[in-house]
Amino acid sequence: MSDTPIFDHFFIEADPDQVTGERRKAKEMKRSAWWKNRLGEGRCHYCGGHFSPNALTMDHMTPLIRGGRTSRSNCVAACTECNRNKRNLTSDAWKNYLEATKGQNNA
Ligand SMILES: [Zn+2]
Repeated sequence: MSDTPIFDHFFIEADPDQVTGERRKAKEMKRSAWWKNRLGEGRCHYCGGHFSPNALTMDHMTPLIRGGRTSRSNCVAACTECNRNKRNLTSDAWKNYLEATKGQNNA
């Protein structure tokens, strides 16, 4: 009856070649002054907590596998806990996690 879309819009799988290319770009970006400045700020984009630069990782807000790009607007510093949670949670559960942690580190 209805035209069911083949892909759930949350789960568009990117072209593997594109993902490989974007991963390579991410590696280069990690060496950039821009990224070192981000790390130097020592702040997790998601929970707002303060961390030492080596406790932060580069996170793609829109994951590469979902068509995200390695760009300054899509790459943020995230603490390992947020990074791990983001990977494991569904987008709804992740949003709830963000709501729950919001403000906790601003005391
Ligand atoms: Zn965090």
